[in-house]
Amino acid sequence: MLSTMQDVPLTVTRILQHGMTIHGKSQITTWTGEAEPQRRTFAEVGERATRLANALRDELGIDGDQRVATLMWNNAEHVEAYFAIPSMGAVLHTLNLRLPAEQLVWIVNHAADRAVIVNGSLLPLLAPLLPHLPTIEHIVVSGPGDRGLLADTQARVYEYEELIAGRPTTYDWPELDERTAAAMCYTSGTTGDPKGVVYSHRSIYLHSMQVNMAESMGLSDSDTTLVVVPQFHVNAWGLPHATFMTGINMLMPDRFLQPAPLADMIEREKPSHAAAVPTIWQGLLAEVTANPRDLSSMKQVTIGGAACPPALMEAYDKLGVRLCHAWGMTETSPLGTMAHPPAGLSAEEEWPYRVTQGRFPAGVEARLVGPGGEILSWDGESAGELEVRGTWIAGAYYGGAGGEDFRPEDKFSEDGWLKTGDVGVISPDGFLTLTDRAKDVIKSGGEWISSVELENALMAHPEVAEAAVVAVPDDKWGERPLATVVLKEGSTADYETLRAFLAEKIAKWQLPERWAVIPAVPKTSVGKFDKKVIRRQYADGELDVTQL
Ligand code: AMP
Repeated sequence: MLSTMQDVPLTVTRILQHGMTIHGKSQITTWTGEAEPQRRTFAEVGERATRLANALRDELGIDGDQRVATLMWNNAEHVEAYFAIPSMGAVLHTLNLRLPAEQLVWIVNHAADRAVIVNGSLLPLLAPLLPHLPTIEHIVVSGPGDRGLLADTQARVYEYEELIAGRPTTYDWPELDERTAAAMCYTSGTTGDPKGVVYSHRSIYLHSMQVNMAESMGLSDSDTTLVVVPQFHVNAWGLPHATFMTGINMLMPDRFLQPAPLADMIEREKPSHAAAVPTIWQGLLAEVTANPRDLSSMKQVTIGGAACPPALMEAYDKLGVRLCHAWGMTETSPLGTMAHPPAGLSAEEEWPYRVTQGRFPAGVEARLVGPGGEILSWDGESAGELEVRGTWIAGAYYGGAGGEDFRPEDKFSEDGWLKTGDVGVISPDGFLTLTDRAKDVIKSGGEWISSVELENALMAHPEVAEAAVVAVPDDKWGERPLATVVLKEGSTADYETLRAFLAEKIAKWQLPERWAVIPAVPKTSVGKFDKKVIRRQYADGELDVTQL
């Protein structure tokens, strides 16, 4: 028997129309570095998005599912592009402005982007790439920057504000199939070529609803979220869409991502929520320790993209800011888990839950798979690779492949689950604890050592600013951990002291013998520890390693 329910497509267009009317008064505040930030209501953003869609169609001739790329910071214009492009049936392709040039070129060509909307401040990045981007016919420039850099391009160049000025404020939005592509984002590609993940209207809609649930970020129109996580990093974790659903105000840092302006922004605009990777929170902590600011407006902060060191969580607790740990991937839209402890616990009882990656929502099914392909039980002890499936989880990559070395069976199981490459355990009450990336696990004498556990223990030392642990080849054990540490200014800690500190928490056989102090942990394009660089530096003899 079929249901008697209506079948209305779940689309980004619907989110736009809802946000700009029902929540028309909510605001996007964009930091400008000047005395006053730029403030725009959802009604204004919606109207400007509508005018942008008209311009893209009538002036640039964007049609069908053509790709329109953005090379932009987090700001109101980028949100306008977020809604205009998918709503007209085209595909938004957010470009990661921190990728190496050759990867950006590869990605734009792979996606066959026809146009790019770019912030003026990023023209020095875009201009030298243009001769290698034959598919780009149109360049729309927004905000301050040197237009002279585009003097030699074959593509047509437009000023964003001039382009949208005077365009119609209505658009005959097409009736879209909810399963069609709305947006795409390439994985940050720590191994092999980047892989394109294509989000559908339906997946974005359902994911936004999940972001807004109390068990996830659970914000409302009385909240303001500081969106530090870039709009090119998994759609800023779904926040621009989720905010238009419930009227959450957005505070956008634009290019002012350094700790000092972030601290100023928080003190002045008093966001109640923020979202960013751990390295941002590390930097901010150092800043407010040196120059105190009031961060206490932030009731909740979503921290993810890499493991949050428990010591960081404790430090923010002392500032009255609660970090809530979340796990996800480009392939999972990204919301996978969030670490809200179960109800009714004391602060002390909550702690072991808060330091996990968290619980899965109903929309994400999870299983752990052991080395022999067996499904492991949720006993909090059996470690295996995490596999997930759900309506906002990727089931394939764009173009079917991601480079010559790519084998689909490495990423998707025969029965259609995504193999995350993350290794961990799940407790009987469904809390996920990741112990490593499959490729970062240290395999020592047939046993596994978690690099993340060693890093967290090291970063709890008061004189350690950052620590990254990688596997290095060892004649006797196969692999052993190499600890690389960044010491805080003025630290006098030596390796023996650090090793003794670790020994209080870590089994003796897991303690690293190889140590190196480094000036900073290398980071990926989205601010995560880039361990492959450390492995290479070690292999090339570039590190000053001491063996204890
Ligand atoms: P990306 O697609 O760039 O967002 O990277 C996704 C990967 O980041 C995941 O597969 C994890 O390895 C890692 N990751 C994300 N969130 C967390 C977290 N809370 N704890 C540990 N690793 C994380």
